[in-house]
Amino acid sequence: MSTPDFKRIVLKISGEALSGEQGYGIDPKFIKSIADQVKAVHDLGIEIAIVVGGGNIWRGKVGSEVGMDRANADYMGMLATVMNSLALQDSLENYGVETRVQTSIEMRQVAEPYIRRKAMRHLEKKRVVIFAGGTGNPYFSTDTTAALRAAEIEADVILMAKNNVDGVYSDDPKLNSDAFKYHELSFMEVLNEGLGVMDSTASSLCMDNDIALIVFSIMEEGNIKRVVTGEEIGTIIRRKSE
Ligand code: UDP
Repeated sequence: MSTPDFKRIVLKISGEALSGEQGYGIDPKFIKSIADQVKAVHDLGIEIAIVVGGGNIWRGKVGSEVGMDRANADYMGMLATVMNSLALQDSLENYGVETRVQTSIEMRQVAEPYIRRKAMRHLEKKRVVIFAGGTGNPYFSTDTTAALRAAEIEADVILMAKNNVDGVYSDDPKLNSDAFKYHELSFMEVLNEGLGVMDSTASSLCMDNDIALIVFSIMEEGNIKRVVTGEEIGTIIRRKSE
């Protein structure tokens, strides 16, 4: 068996990955498949923190486009990530994986508040920690949350699990048959070429703090384990491409 390349990871799962084919809400079948993949990585002894998005339920931008106050709409999005986080916790615990949800907006009846040192202690004890509620601030994204938390907990890498693409492409592969997949990129290239990997705040944070990011598809069973054991299946983004 290949040995893991990382000791501590942040796994970013977009909300859409939880909705499966229905495209909205939570599909228990998909959550189960993600939990199954996370368990396989947990069994390798890797410390896992997860940031879940909320786009399968609500995006702040959509609300503001129809006239809502942007900050209010964003808070709704942050609450959506809490629902997803609880669903994922439930599924992971069904597999016997001890899990803690920490929210950036306090809701103590539901989950622990985010406390960095406590999160790190949970990770050392091999509990999976799910960071819910994004950064707790409007105008940000859960990609930025992943970059921020990765820096805070000193993670080795961010694994950006995608449900609709298996890496970073030069153009939309569904629209342009000449589009090719990058094997490796620097954050500067991502920013300069406007590649749709993550928002620019998240990319800058990764670049400034020297956090590596691997973009890959979560739709194929076993892919999270493939990535952590060094299989080159997606696109790796670093401060400087080698
Ligand atoms: N959000 C926010 N601040 C954060 C993280 C998220 O305001 O720090 C809101 C924002 O409205 C966003 C929504 O939560 O649209 C859902 O998060 P995101 O779009 O990142 O989810 P994903 O696309 O990963 O499913």
